[in-house]
Amino acid sequence: MLDVRAVPAFRDNYIWMIRTPADPHAAVVVDPGDAEPVLAALEAGRLSLAAILATHHHADHVGGVARLVAGTGARVFGPARERLPFAADRMSAGDAVRLPELGLEFATMDVPGHTAGHVAYAGHGVVFCGDTLFSAGCGRLFEGTAGEMLASLDSLAALPEDTLVCCGHEYTQANLRFAMSVEPGNSDIMDYVKRAAEIRASGRPTLPSTIGLEKRVNPFLRSRNENVKSAAERRAGRMLPTPVAVFAEIRSWKDTYQ
Ligand SMILES: [Zn+2]
Repeated sequence: MLDVRAVPAFRDNYIWMIRTPADPHAAVVVDPGDAEPVLAALEAGRLSLAAILATHHHADHVGGVARLVAGTGARVFGPARERLPFAADRMSAGDAVRLPELGLEFATMDVPGHTAGHVAYAGHGVVFCGDTLFSAGCGRLFEGTAGEMLASLDSLAALPEDTLVCCGHEYTQANLRFAMSVEPGNSDIMDYVKRAAEIRASGRPTLPSTIGLEKRVNPFLRSRNENVKSAAERRAGRMLPTPVAVFAEIRSWKDTYQ
């Protein structure tokens, strides 16, 4: 099993740091929007940076890459279909991130929706999904359609239930407030609200989550659930005949939810 740890950055970003028993002195980071907290974590653990994985082009996920590469010579993997301000191995579905010296291999998944070329990296029981799937939420549709995003979320939901979900932001509590509005009778959401409050009160991240938990609480993975569908139809004031229509309604509801 991997050692994955969230390194907080900016207001609510998480940069994921991966370590493996194959080389206790090396680390890999995912989505380093800021170099500073990564360099501090490397120094504190006396670690070298072997590789950087980027899920999408937004600055709060890649802003620290150039400085980290300059300082460490780390190898960079990024999405094939996005414009990146640095050199990288360009990954898309079917490509594997292979770091044999660390005993690591991750499959690349194409998960468009938040951005057009967004990728996720899955392996060793963990998925790094950037701003596609959040705990109890999903990313905004900046460059993709509802249909694309639903297909991306469906592919993530098809991972084994115990897969650890390492996403890019600590949005869990705000997402859960919305999830409660969509499904007020869902006891899994109520339980998670309490647990997330305790975790945050102790200053810890609510992440990683798991695919199994997300399938029980995340309205964006539940477009086919009758209660979610009914709530979306009540808000829309009309029938929503397809899961994509339900998903699109829930997404636009969340966009304006206070
Ligand atoms: Zn983003």
